[in-house]
Amino acid sequence: MTIRKISMSRRDIVLGLAAGTIIPVSGCAQNSALGRSQLQLVSQDQIMMLSQQAWQEALQRERVLRDPRYNRRLQRVGANMVARTGMSDLDWEFVVIDSDQVNAWVLPNGKVAFYRGILDIMEEDGHIATVMGHEMGHVAGRHAAERASQQRASQLGLQLAGAVLQQQGVNFNEDMAAALGVGVTYGVILPYSRQHEFEADRLGVDYMVTAGYAPHEALDFWLAMSTLHRDASFEFMSTHPSDEARISAMRAHIAARGYS
Ligand SMILES: [Zn+2]
Repeated sequence: MTIRKISMSRRDIVLGLAAGTIIPVSGCAQNSALGRSQLQLVSQDQIMMLSQQAWQEALQRERVLRDPRYNRRLQRVGANMVARTGMSDLDWEFVVIDSDQVNAWVLPNGKVAFYRGILDIMEEDGHIATVMGHEMGHVAGRHAAERASQQRASQLGLQLAGAVLQQQGVNFNEDMAAALGVGVTYGVILPYSRQHEFEADRLGVDYMVTAGYAPHEALDFWLAMSTLHRDASFEFMSTHPSDEARISAMRAHIAARGYS
């Protein structure tokens, strides 16, 4: 399997935000953004290819909203976040989907979708930055690839998986695409695990602060969300961490980092 080492700019290193720098250790890779190793049985090239397919399909299936009142805000925050965090090595794209759903998602290739419904409850740019940062955190954390690798490993048995993948190259099937969670291919956004959600929250706060937004905006946003009725279609709500748990974890992270 091929492992691509993404070079870090000085700014990345300074910020400690380098995304996707990986060191192969028998199917495990150290992720510098997360500060932990993770199972990576899927090459970055394959992930990019699948993500691009999923993005094309999503754009065909969903109704894209062109209204500049929504798009200007999303572009402004997205472009700022990417530039200021040094994550511009991906070809980021930010699209508004014309739906009442309170939802947002990202693909590993930096394609981001916000639904009109979630933008409608975001009064401040900092609220958009909160969710944008969270989604960027999933990308830097390589969460989709990790999930796909875990699913693959559990299907085949870890040792076998490594051998098969190396011999044959990864033969992608529908399971793999779904596990990448680019589940959008099937009209389903897979929820991330509790660990992935907390990691994305922490990275998201780091990114928004780096980009110049006040970290309390993240707490404000999540507090406002917790007062909304629970919509099962909402990625954040449908996953394991309760609002309370994630808010207190974020608060602890903000204190530990010394953000104010
Ligand atoms: Zn998430």
